[in-house]
Amino acid sequence: MQRIKIKELLKADPNNVIGNDYLVKGWVRTRRESKNISFIALNDGSTINHLQIVVDHDKFNEDFLKKITTGSAIGVKGQIVASPAPKQPIELHSNEIELYGEAPADEYPLQKKGHSLEFLREIAHLRPRTNTFGAIFRIRHHLAYSIHKFFNDKGFYYFHTPIITTSDCEGAGEMFRVTTLDLYNLPLTDHGKIDFSEDFFGKETALTVSGQLEGELGALALGEIYTFGPTFRAENSNTTRHLAEFWMIEPEMAFYDIIDNMNLAEEFIKYLIKYLLENCYEDLEFLNNMYDKELLDRLNHVLDTPFERLTYTDAIEILKNSNQNFEFPIYWGVDLQSEHERYLVEKYFKKPVILTDYPKEIKAFYMKLNDDDKTVKAMDVLVPRVGEIIGGSQREDNYDKLLKRIQENHVPMKDVWWYLETRKFGSAPHSGFGLGFERFMLFVTGMGNIRDVIPFPRTPKNIEF
Ligand code: ATP
Ligand code: MN
Repeated sequence: MQRIKIKELLKADPNNVIGNDYLVKGWVRTRRESKNISFIALNDGSTINHLQIVVDHDKFNEDFLKKITTGSAIGVKGQIVASPAPKQPIELHSNEIELYGEAPADEYPLQKKGHSLEFLREIAHLRPRTNTFGAIFRIRHHLAYSIHKFFNDKGFYYFHTPIITTSDCEGAGEMFRVTTLDLYNLPLTDHGKIDFSEDFFGKETALTVSGQLEGELGALALGEIYTFGPTFRAENSNTTRHLAEFWMIEPEMAFYDIIDNMNLAEEFIKYLIKYLLENCYEDLEFLNNMYDKELLDRLNHVLDTPFERLTYTDAIEILKNSNQNFEFPIYWGVDLQSEHERYLVEKYFKKPVILTDYPKEIKAFYMKLNDDDKTVKAMDVLVPRVGEIIGGSQREDNYDKLLKRIQENHVPMKDVWWYLETRKFGSAPHSGFGLGFERFMLFVTGMGNIRDVIPFPRTPKNIEF
């Protein structure tokens, strides 16, 4: 008999499955005994919903049944019948049970419901088996899939940018080193410095903090590309919004100006939300009921509302006149903090906001300079609860201006000479942005901590699993 997934069974018209025999396999969430009967709630990961298995005690050995405890893995053959229970239309009456793996009740940590998220982080190897993390990781899958689908359907190409790089394009200086040098016996130059010419690549190398610069090379040939890959930042900021290893999506488009870029970002966010509402509603509903009662309303609201677009300069005026007690002071030229971003989004506009035209001093060297010589064509998309979710810009496509910005920012020419060459040969206006995958997960799941939306979070001093 072929195995069927619980999702398929529950999705089917009951009339088409009632009376038929099926084989299901999964993990026992609970087993309740009444007089001559047990009820097993079985989950196989395909859906948040469990299949109720009815076990007639007369058909099975008592010692065998005792081993079917919370967490054990079983396969069950039996007949689907209409269920008298109000919450589910069908249940399975078992004829045969195979026990694949026990989960001794005195040791299995997930006996009861309602463990704290903090506790579950300490058992990251088992937390996917909870309802919460099952829902989150299914949503994560659907989100990744819908990102590829969005771009593919629009004719963008998935462009793979390198993970090992030499350049720190953001100038953040927070990179993880990659080396095969013997750390206990480092080769030194005559000046007593580490001799990286002896290293694997013959150069100092690190894990990428962004695929953007290489992504631009793709856009200036294929037209519209996107990257979707792991990104590494050794920033020692122990916040609920930063990971040392996270995933980033970076579309880069030739012949797009900053307005086209904003339009794409807004369309993209709405597409993803719509896709998730259509394809993971049950999981979202579960998270809405358990963690964030406004989640579904918020997602629907964002879907229906045009994003507010305004300049950084206008935003500063609004913040100055807000009469709020911000921790960080407000003046033209300051880098906005999360408290400022959230005031604009949650209190003032009550919808997502796209801020543009930031002072050049607080943005990266590659952003296109405005005619005022003071601001750049940057755009940050801010959403409720999370703050900045996208950072992007129109890129400087003028050779001389880009060269000047590189020099002003002391970016070493040995790291970006190839980038600059694209402005020498067939330069074209182009734009792009970066969306933090886990930041978006926070937004769509309503979870409060970025450690809870990635299977194995990497944060300072935390790498057990
Ligand atoms: P922040 O100010 O929040 O640290 P950033 O300005 O460093 O963000 P960018 O360099 O613009 O971020 O990166 C693009 C996107 O990547 C951000 O909008 C955010 O969604 C995401 N991101 C950046 N750093 C992290 C991180 N450490 N963990 C998870 N996501 C991140
Ligand atoms: Mn940062």
